[in-house]
Amino acid sequence: MSKNTKADSAVIEAVGLRKSYGTLEVLKGLDLSLDRGEVVALIGPSGSGKSTFIRCLNMMEVPTGGTIRFRQKPVGKQFRDKGEEIGIGTLRRHVGMVFQHFNLFPHKTVLQNVTEGPIVVCNRPKREAEEVAMDLLAQVGLAEKHAAYPNHLSGGQKQRVAIARALAMQPEVLLLDEVTSALDPELVGEVLAVIRKLAEEGMTMAIVTHEMAFAAAVASRVLFLDQGVIAETGSAEEVILNPQNPRLQGFVARFK
Ligand code: ADP
Ligand code: MG
Repeated sequence: MSKNTKADSAVIEAVGLRKSYGTLEVLKGLDLSLDRGEVVALIGPSGSGKSTFIRCLNMMEVPTGGTIRFRQKPVGKQFRDKGEEIGIGTLRRHVGMVFQHFNLFPHKTVLQNVTEGPIVVCNRPKREAEEVAMDLLAQVGLAEKHAAYPNHLSGGQKQRVAIARALAMQPEVLLLDEVTSALDPELVGEVLAVIRKLAEEGMTMAIVTHEMAFAAAVASRVLFLDQGVIAETGSAEEVILNPQNPRLQGFVARFK
């Protein structure tokens, strides 16, 4: 077992994770273990496999090798739990994801976007789902926008709705894929502030980001993905502020 794997206390793990598209081998055997409350940042050049990696963590992409483990049990290929195996449905239900391009439902209001999952997937009563949603919208500073449609919001507001929507499912793990990359620079801060607060409140997160200062501030561990392998891993201090690997030095320097 590699140093990234600690099977006894992990919420979610990747063990020897591999993913190929045809003959293109994108992930070449990755190990990652996330403890409860831990925040890990994934950095790396475009095309290194960061999105593929976190999409495999909640089985949006089915790995071609290795195992995803959730609550210390292997995740199978079937939708429902079966014997010792966790089903993909259970995994997705508890592992939230926020994307670069928000992916809000355009024909639903802000409030409906946030209540959709709890009502449809979890069968929550509408009134109860709305109460929780209003509370979450207040937490991301958008309670007054609950009746607005997404196309009337700024990018930063849309992304904060997307985060509230993910939180409405009470995820045990939150996966964030470059959630500020599509935003105008002046809107990045308001989204990072929400994520920082989540980190302080103990949310378990894997964050793909090019915001090096942010990664250094919130992540207890930083992973540098390069050409489908974890080329370097360590504290933010080690990986971002004092990189040793020459490719990592070049990468980090570009974002300073
Ligand atoms: P990153 O997020 O680090 O930029 P990605 O995980 O998006 O990297 O992509 C890694 C590699 O996998 C790239 O070469 C990309 O073109 C390829 N890739 C990603 N998704 C697919 C797909 N659905 N089909 C074929 N190739 C893909
Ligand atoms: Mg990506």
